[in-house]
Amino acid sequence: MDKSLDCESVMQLGPALCGGEHLGRRMVLGPMATGRATILCPFAMLAGMEATLADSERFLTALESGDLVELRRVPKTDLHIHSILGTRIENIESWIHRPLPRPPTRMTSLDDMREYAHQVLYPHILNREGFEFTAASAIQDAIEDGVVRIEISLDIRFMRLYDAVPKGFLDFVARLAQTFSPRIDVRPEIGVSRNRPPVTEIPLAMVCVESGLFCSLDLYGNETAESPESYRSLYAEAHGLKKKVHVGEFGNADLVDRTLDVLRPNEIQHGIAAAASPTTMDRIRNGGTRLNICPTSNVCLGAVGEIGTHPIRTLVDRGIRVSINTDDLTIFGRSASQEYLELYRSGLLTAKELDGIRRDSLPS
Ligand SMILES: [Zn+2]
Repeated sequence: MDKSLDCESVMQLGPALCGGEHLGRRMVLGPMATGRATILCPFAMLAGMEATLADSERFLTALESGDLVELRRVPKTDLHIHSILGTRIENIESWIHRPLPRPPTRMTSLDDMREYAHQVLYPHILNREGFEFTAASAIQDAIEDGVVRIEISLDIRFMRLYDAVPKGFLDFVARLAQTFSPRIDVRPEIGVSRNRPPVTEIPLAMVCVESGLFCSLDLYGNETAESPESYRSLYAEAHGLKKKVHVGEFGNADLVDRTLDVLRPNEIQHGIAAAASPTTMDRIRNGGTRLNICPTSNVCLGAVGEIGTHPIRTLVDRGIRVSINTDDLTIFGRSASQEYLELYRSGLLTAKELDGIRRDSLPS
């Protein structure tokens, strides 16, 4: 079937079929309406399908021609980004009116990155104004990169930057999502670091869970600083939230297995160590657990030698769902569009495979 012709004919009939006013992908019903005020409109659904096919075509062409400008116009997501380091370093420089030393292009661990952040960035941005600026600027960067949904991690330690705890922090989170709607779907994520004691962090995280403002929960920091068991109760009580965990970035496949056993995450941040274990990979695939991968971060921090040998190839070949993300744009300097382009240029994934990953990560 020629989908474009089919859509065209439906588009001509659309208003007559629907008899109402279109509001994006939903519409107000015409005289035939009964019961609920809105339904999903078949005309709009087919128009949406046509747009999806057109997006794929543009994405494939842009990858093959190396057209980053066009690539940035195609809808995509960022499901793994930390707010405090989520904007381009140039934006921080403009905000503080002074240049900053650049991060090393190669580091050997998370500690190297933390040291750079503490020495160069945090003196300027680890305060209430800096936290609010970087979060908003990260979302603006994402919009300019064609990101239509961002799951942005907001570390609960930032709650302590406000005089009114937790109200000041929670009010900002509520404003953040509203400010950018409808240009982008901002999904605030509770960020909990293993580098701080669970006894102080879990009560703060529960305040966020109970606020109803957050869509997901994530655990990050040094993978071996605390056991997964330390967070069992938090994850068990985070009802209605998508559950994520950073694991398998530097930790091994056994730790990935143990985390799956104890915390039962819906998605794993990184998880690339699973590629060393066929049984762990099969478990991830069979459980439908997506890995939110950040290729440049993995290379810069020394978890992977180079983009061209990234284990995402092995994971995709095993049938595991993956997404492609930025992690910390301030440090790694590559937007989601640039990540897709680098993966294509490296020859690791084909344009069609990358488009499949892009489409799978979009809101359904
Ligand atoms: Zn991360």
